[in-house]
Amino acid sequence: MLSGIKNVRARLTLWYVLIFTFILILYAGFTIALLYLNLRHNLDQELAENYELLENIIQIGANDSLYFKAESNPYLRENWFEIWSPENLVLFKSRPVSSAILPSFQNRLKNGDGFRFKSLSLPNDLHLRIMQGKVNIDGHWFFVRLIKNEASLWRELFSFLWILIIALPLSIIIAGWGGYFLSKKLLAPVDRMAVTARKIGEENLHERLPVANARDELGNLSLTFNALLDRLEKSFLRLKQFTSDAAHELRTPLTAIRSMGEVSLQENKKPEYYRNVIGSILEENRRLTRLIDSLLFLSRADSDQMKLRKELFDFIPFVEQTIEFIQPLAEEKKQVIELQSNGDISLFADRDLVREALLNILDNAIKYAPAESKITVTLKHNAFEAAISISDSGNGIPKAHLDKIFRRFYRVDKARSRELGGSGLGLAISLWVIQMHNGTIAVKSKQNEGSRFTISLPIKNDNARED
Ligand code: ADP
Repeated sequence: MLSGIKNVRARLTLWYVLIFTFILILYAGFTIALLYLNLRHNLDQELAENYELLENIIQIGANDSLYFKAESNPYLRENWFEIWSPENLVLFKSRPVSSAILPSFQNRLKNGDGFRFKSLSLPNDLHLRIMQGKVNIDGHWFFVRLIKNEASLWRELFSFLWILIIALPLSIIIAGWGGYFLSKKLLAPVDRMAVTARKIGEENLHERLPVANARDELGNLSLTFNALLDRLEKSFLRLKQFTSDAAHELRTPLTAIRSMGEVSLQENKKPEYYRNVIGSILEENRRLTRLIDSLLFLSRADSDQMKLRKELFDFIPFVEQTIEFIQPLAEEKKQVIELQSNGDISLFADRDLVREALLNILDNAIKYAPAESKITVTLKHNAFEAAISISDSGNGIPKAHLDKIFRRFYRVDKARSRELGGSGLGLAISLWVIQMHNGTIAVKSKQNEGSRFTISLPIKNDNARED
């Protein structure tokens, strides 16, 4: 029912009023019951006290006749009581309420002596409290019944009830107003959050929600939302940067192709010249294709479309084949790739992806190491992981760049990288692949001495994230 109300403030207030009313009614019922019991107890006590007085004025005469002491007149006039013989005959009735005729004294009290209390309602709205019992006076048994009108008890009870009936709606109205005021005050930060959140868009993604109190639930909500905005802003900026870097990278070879075409169209040249131009255009085209392949790889990786196809394979033959594949590039520069290992081990991984990661690092070693130098590939393993290190004797990477070279499009020397056919995406792809296998890539480099890249892969069968 309450869920139909859209406004949280109104819903909270209604719930509050409902619960408050329920508690008040419970409280009122409990209080009235207690008051009734208390008043009835007082009445019973008065009856008991009356009996003590009665007992003092009763006298037993000759022939077991019953009479009262002379000074007992006011008592007889004011109090209502009856005395019956054990044979169920009325011995005395004071009758201060002449209109009321009580039911005859039944012999229900035959068993056991002592008094019992009960309430009795008669026609004419007469409510009575009765104390009756079998008593022994001066060795004689009687049935005694003392009666009191409950009118004052009910009067008090009803006047209390009236007070409650007037006070209850008043307190509910006050509570409702208080509840509405409180919920409005408590929910005010939510309104402020909504106003700010509505204004946050692509152009002001740096803005954050107000945090009134970081320790309460709403503050926590703001903080969580702000953390989400942080992440969104970062990934948005990364995406923006990536798009602009990618566009820039794509434009360079395209511009080169266009200007080569334009220049060669300007005048008649020898066929040799055109062949050279076409060769350069094809080279740029290959570079473009490689770049687009890398971009596609990363975009599929980012959108989680890349599935690992893991298989079990031997590490040494796998590395040997990879080196063989890239060998022609090393041979062009008269470089030697040397493989060292401390024994073979089986790996459970995506063979193609790990090969791609390894090729990128080997390709860098060949690119950035001088001609006729040696590149050393070392394989090591222990019970937990297999490591492959690729060391070259190139110029090395300056310390300030070491932790950045795995970023997309990051290059220490852009011109040199481009000249060597690099796009700045190779290490980013390698890192992604190795991390997907729960592995790591570490790099150590000394300027003018060389660099060493080490890939570590866990060798347990669950060494890659399951898809
Ligand atoms: P690139 O296509 O430019 O080689 P990478 O992502 O593979 O892109 O590498 C990023 C940058 O890290 C390179 O541009 C280069 O500056 C540096 N780098 C990578 N490997 C080596 C290496 N073996 N020796 C020196 N510099 C390296």
